[in-house]
Amino acid sequence: MNPTPRTAILTPGFQETKLVRVFPQGWNEEAAKFEPSSIAGPADQLRRLTKLDLGLRHAVIVFTYGVEAGLSDDDRDNFWDAFGVPVFEQYLGRGNELLAVECDAHTGLHLVGDFEAPDQDRRACACGSPNPRLPRRARIGELAELLIEAPMAFGDATATR
Ligand SMILES: [Zn+2]
Repeated sequence: MNPTPRTAILTPGFQETKLVRVFPQGWNEEAAKFEPSSIAGPADQLRRLTKLDLGLRHAVIVFTYGVEAGLSDDDRDNFWDAFGVPVFEQYLGRGNELLAVECDAHTGLHLVGDFEAPDQDRRACACGSPNPRLPRRARIGELAELLIEAPMAFGDATATR
């Protein structure tokens, strides 16, 4: 067992690092050789993998894009059953910039950066993050609209472009 927390991103448009590799065509032999402990990608990509044993040990990260509905409870349950690791949702903007990240406590998605969103919740979160939260499955469309005008200043976004 390799304890290194490696992440395979199964969709194009992201920057690679030592521990993050991008597989633009999705899961393939090369991705398997990389032996990721976590995978990240849009729900439709992940749905294709639920019959495989990927040997994940950390997390599944589901990308949701501006115009889409958030991750459904059915998908969330399926991914949990199939992959056997916690499922976290992330909201991405049009340029793959990170907008909001589901927290460890699964109480919502914390906004990344310092813009405002409607319906945001500023109460302290069990996970310790001070960033405001969106309720799960917030109206991401509204958020995305706000962000088009927001400066591109998202701290440690994994995206390039
Ligand atoms: Zn939190």
